[in-house]
Amino acid sequence: MSEAVYDVLIIGGGPAGLTAGLYASRAKLRTLLVERMIMGGQVMTTTKVENYPGFPGGIDGPDLMLRFQEHCQEFGLEVRYGEVSGLVDAGGEKVVTVDGEPVRARTAIVTTGAEPRKLGIPGEPELTGRGVSYCATCDGAFFRNVPVAVVGGGDTAAEEALFLTRFASRVYLIHRRGELRATKVLQERLAANEKVEILWHRTVERALGESSGLKAVQLRDTVSGEPSELAVEGLFVAIGVTPKAHFLAEVLTLDADGHILTDAECRTSMPGVFAAGDVRKKILKQIATAVGDGAVAAIMAEKYLEDLEG
Ligand code: NAP
Repeated sequence: MSEAVYDVLIIGGGPAGLTAGLYASRAKLRTLLVERMIMGGQVMTTTKVENYPGFPGGIDGPDLMLRFQEHCQEFGLEVRYGEVSGLVDAGGEKVVTVDGEPVRARTAIVTTGAEPRKLGIPGEPELTGRGVSYCATCDGAFFRNVPVAVVGGGDTAAEEALFLTRFASRVYLIHRRGELRATKVLQERLAANEKVEILWHRTVERALGESSGLKAVQLRDTVSGEPSELAVEGLFVAIGVTPKAHFLAEVLTLDADGHILTDAECRTSMPGVFAAGDVRKKILKQIATAVGDGAVAAIMAEKYLEDLEG
């Protein structure tokens, strides 16, 4: 086991984790942030962020996240890349398993975020990467001058559909109800874009294709029950996200959807462990709210350490 005992160990390097890292390292707490793969979280797959204050005209997601990282570096945040697989309470200290190795800390902040939800339909696993995608920003450019579909009715689906109009010949937005959940400004942009067609009251039941890739999707009308087929080469799934907290299910209290339950100050069911951002149960999941959570969690961790020291 490593000899170092951190004051704060942050799991995850998205907006919540980087903000917690900024606050904790600026407070001169010995802080380690552990990130599995790429710093920046879900924002890294967002083209333009238009609703984060301070950037009139918007800012590209990766650019914004680079600024978050540079800001943390100013205060000397220590970063390690590795996979966290467990966390236990060991006599007041938390022992976090990073790439199979125990790392000790007096407090932990979980900011692991969420990952795209899958449709769970036949053909989806086989055609993932060959027409079925969960990220238009990453894969959209592969679909030049061909028809594509986006499934979902939220902000993500609307943004993905609009982004895809840059490449695709036609973009079908398939939604299971007759009303979108996406914000009004995005709905207006969808309506104004000639390449976008919304297929209301429709679910996707099957992804159809062969080894060369996706050829069509099988749909069902949720009102009439009528089946139909839509020829598309791309299917972008944007039906919400699943929190990444399964590895903590035995030690923290989660809700039925797998979100970590916290109080308003980001305290989880384990003393000294906090959760911030999309991984915790809350009403609004935005960069601005993840940032707010990260700040609260770091300050609460600092307070917890002060109380321990009496
Ligand atoms: P979301 O708001 O939860 O929307 C998910 C959409 O997928 C809903 O329209 C839902 O339909 C549909 N859906 C769910 N399961 C489905 C299924 N099995 N089959 C077909 N459709 C299904 O998810 P999101 O759009 O990813 O957004 C997540 C959060 O991030 C939200 O709080 C959102 O506001 C935020 N966000 C914000 C921005 C921004 O501000 N720029 C950008 C992206 C995301 P129903 O409507 O019928 O439930």
